[in-house]
Amino acid sequence: MGKIKKMKAIIVGGSIAGVSCAHSLTLAGWDVLVLEKSSEPPARSPTGAGLGLDPQARTIIKSWLPHPHLLDETTLPLSIDQNQGTDSEKKVTRVLTRDESFDFRAAYWSDIHGLLFNALDPTMFLWGHKFLSFTMSQDESTVKVETLVMETQETIEIHGDLLVAADGCLSSIRKTFLPNLKLRYSGYCAWRGVFDFSGDENSETVSGIKREYPDLGKCVYFDLARDTHSVFYELSNKKLNWIWYVNQPEPELKSNSVTLKVSQEMINKMHQEADTIWIPELARLMKETKEPFLNVIYDCDPLERIFWGNVVLVGDAAHPTTPHGLRSTNMSVLDAEVLGKCLGECGPENLNLGLEEYQRIRLRVVSEQVLYARCLGRIKQGLDRDGVGLEQKHMPFFSGAPLV
Ligand SMILES: Cc1cc2nc3c(=O)[nH]c(=O)nc-3n(C[C@H](O)[C@H](O)[C@H](O)COP(=O)(O)OP(=O)(O)OC[C@H]3O[C@@H](n4cnc5c(N)ncnc54)[C@H](O)[C@@H]3O)c2cc1C
Repeated sequence: MGKIKKMKAIIVGGSIAGVSCAHSLTLAGWDVLVLEKSSEPPARSPTGAGLGLDPQARTIIKSWLPHPHLLDETTLPLSIDQNQGTDSEKKVTRVLTRDESFDFRAAYWSDIHGLLFNALDPTMFLWGHKFLSFTMSQDESTVKVETLVMETQETIEIHGDLLVAADGCLSSIRKTFLPNLKLRYSGYCAWRGVFDFSGDENSETVSGIKREYPDLGKCVYFDLARDTHSVFYELSNKKLNWIWYVNQPEPELKSNSVTLKVSQEMINKMHQEADTIWIPELARLMKETKEPFLNVIYDCDPLERIFWGNVVLVGDAAHPTTPHGLRSTNMSVLDAEVLGKCLGECGPENLNLGLEEYQRIRLRVVSEQVLYARCLGRIKQGLDRDGVGLEQKHMPFFSGAPLV
């Protein structure tokens, strides 16, 4: 008597947006099931690289963790945002802008994912389950999801009250509503790498880089050369994270991923170009980094809506963005928080109202941020002359976005 049925959310995608929604929806009183096609939690393999967390996302993440101090322990401060010009001929740099009131922290992707995932009940997750399709009931109150169990190749049906698309920038759930939407190629790809110097702190490479980048450990460096730029900062556990954006025609994506398979020949060519563009210390670090990888950089014109009936988009599925505003993880965390708060406050009987509130609050913020990051990338890659300031602090809603 009087027992209210708990609403059930099916979340597709167990990356940052998916695990964040698992936290916020559980807190809002929902049952949660996460379907993820990868066969196991990524924290067990050294996936990903670095990302920057803003103060608002950090506060939210801490509120989800049973041991909030772990977030500070696994991240390093980024209290300085510095843009510097590189003269590729003379191989010297000069400071263009320096903001010493920056308040980000540098994190390793798999550390953040691990912190968030480990704070959840693991039975909520179905690993090795690939989402195939869904059908909404006519009154849009329930949803039936078909998923492929990768190990057995059998297809199973799962029923829920809400479908959360956290399936990344190439979202197949988004495609069912917007079949003609094409991502916009930015004009460049990004070489990325993490240089691990644990046990090797006194090597010439490390002492050279610390001499040229004396604020490593508290600064995010943007090096701007002609028609190209790189980003460089330290991560905890003696790791250095770098990203180098290279203008080029759009490569063909052979799989459903924006990370390209790279050949030794492509890596050799990247090493040669690093020597011609960057100061020797940075080029050397890039050349000594094991297994660099290449991301194709896309974004998307802001969507007009991010929910249909009882299906809602979050994270990169809702707003594919270029990475220049250090935003995508922060946006995913905020999407999750706002979604949880809106659904919690409106109650299960007003799901549609809760989703409308989520869309109203988030769409304006993420749309402005995506377009700003696009401008910043185009300026730094020499594709546009001007439009926005180089410093991160000019990002719309930099000092905080509305929550509810
Ligand atoms: C392994 C990995 C490493 C990353 N490393 C970094 C990093 O170092 N720095 C950084 O800034 N960003 C990184 N990112 C991207 C970053 O997580 C996102 O840009 C941002 O946080 C938004 O996250 P998201 O969850 O919306 O999307 P994504 O992180 O792209 O996650 C989408 C998830 O959905 C799953 N998925 C997609 N289709 C299906 C399907 N049909 N069925 C089931 N599951 C599906 C994918 O396997 C993936 O786990 C990484 C992403 C991944 C997946």
